[in-house]
Amino acid sequence: MNVADSERAATNLHNAGYAISDSTQSADVIIFNTCSVRARAAEKVFARIRDVRRFRNGRKPIIGVMGCVAQLEGENLLEDSTSIDFAIGTGALERIPSIVKEVLEGQGKALDLGERVESEASGVSASFRHSPYVAFVPIIEGCNKFCTYCIVPYSRGREKSRVAAEIVEEVSRLRGEGFREIHLIGQNVNSYRPRTDSGLESIEGATQFSKLLRVVAATGIERIKFTTSFPRDLHPDIVSAIDENENLCNWVHLPMQSGSNRVLRAMRRGYKVEDYIKRVEAIKSAKRRIALTSDIIVGFPGETVKEFDETINLVKYCRYDSLYIFKYSERPGTPAASLEDNISEQEKTARFLELEKVQKGIQRSVLEEYVGGEVRVLVEGKSAKTPLDMRGHSTCHKVVNFPGDISLAGQEVIVRITEAKVNSLYGGLVKGL
Ligand code: SAH
Ligand code: SF4
Repeated sequence: MNVADSERAATNLHNAGYAISDSTQSADVIIFNTCSVRARAAEKVFARIRDVRRFRNGRKPIIGVMGCVAQLEGENLLEDSTSIDFAIGTGALERIPSIVKEVLEGQGKALDLGERVESEASGVSASFRHSPYVAFVPIIEGCNKFCTYCIVPYSRGREKSRVAAEIVEEVSRLRGEGFREIHLIGQNVNSYRPRTDSGLESIEGATQFSKLLRVVAATGIERIKFTTSFPRDLHPDIVSAIDENENLCNWVHLPMQSGSNRVLRAMRRGYKVEDYIKRVEAIKSAKRRIALTSDIIVGFPGETVKEFDETINLVKYCRYDSLYIFKYSERPGTPAASLEDNISEQEKTARFLELEKVQKGIQRSVLEEYVGGEVRVLVEGKSAKTPLDMRGHSTCHKVVNFPGDISLAGQEVIVRITEAKVNSLYGGLVKGL
């Protein structure tokens, strides 16, 4: 989501005539895109601003902050920091050029925390995409779920879905530009509910999201991934759509958060462990093996050792291909912030490490199962470790390295897996596709 926002900001600035620089040493304007999901992420931006100022000799750059921290703290940022010249909220990306212009013209500090105006919606030009082969396509913004620990509904506003016709047009255009994989992205993609059926009228499906998957699959783009899926809205028809369409990739990210019904209720997640297991079973009974990944929060206020053990047991049951573990971080203004954050930092770290150890064991055996088999890999470039190897992602979203040369970049190939590493797979090229 944040990468997609940066791509859009760069496109808007470029279209307005600004040259995008990759050097914080020479740029006239430096914009920090920020995340406030956890306290650490929010604090990082201040450290980065200090670094930029410290290591830059000569003229002071104009510094702006965009994203969630700007949305929540915009006014305070401008009041408290002499370094920050402007703040732009999550709905104001399209207005970045005019804000930058105001500041450059010396009109003083500037702030825009307003909502997105639909007529302003802009695309992302190919040259500002993070990859020439893989593109992010936002389908829904914001969140209405209000999980008690989470800042996102406040920083990103309410759910707003793009109409399907516009998404399909963007995917077809990306395909024409040579992109081979798209990621449909949103806080909860499967809560997709556009105001009109435009583009979905004749499509079969139990939910608007499963219809969207089918209509995007029909564009013929080679690979489609989507993230994140909200457990309560994971209708089995989504699995059917994956079964029916080879280009819908075999990977689902389904954050569980906790394996305890009491904690899930306190988090206001809207599902019980039993419901979550049903969704996992539907995913595991798909025709192709669908890789399953998840997010978990350890140390939510009041989480007992027994409740944490329930999370460990559910993780063992689900056998995730990979797992993001977060220590609970109190976010001011959320309902959970009024609960006593009674699990010490030391205990949160101990639970984090214990869960990480369990997951490492599971992951080793899950990845071992790929050895001897073949995966389809979109080759993205050279491996970071050795120029003799190429690197890409499989349809099941694993990093795969194999000996090969740069002429393969951008191609889809079959790789036979010979070795499972901790977080990736290694193999040999079988053939191109
Ligand atoms: N919409 C997605 C998640 C978006 S935020 C969902 O509901 O599944 C990404 C992840 O950050 C969450 O899944 C959660 O595990 C973590 N997270 C969010 N708020 C947090 C907090 N206050 N403390 C720790 N982790 C948090
Ligand atoms: Fe946050 Fe919950 Fe919305 Fe995910 S569903 S973004 S965790 S409020």
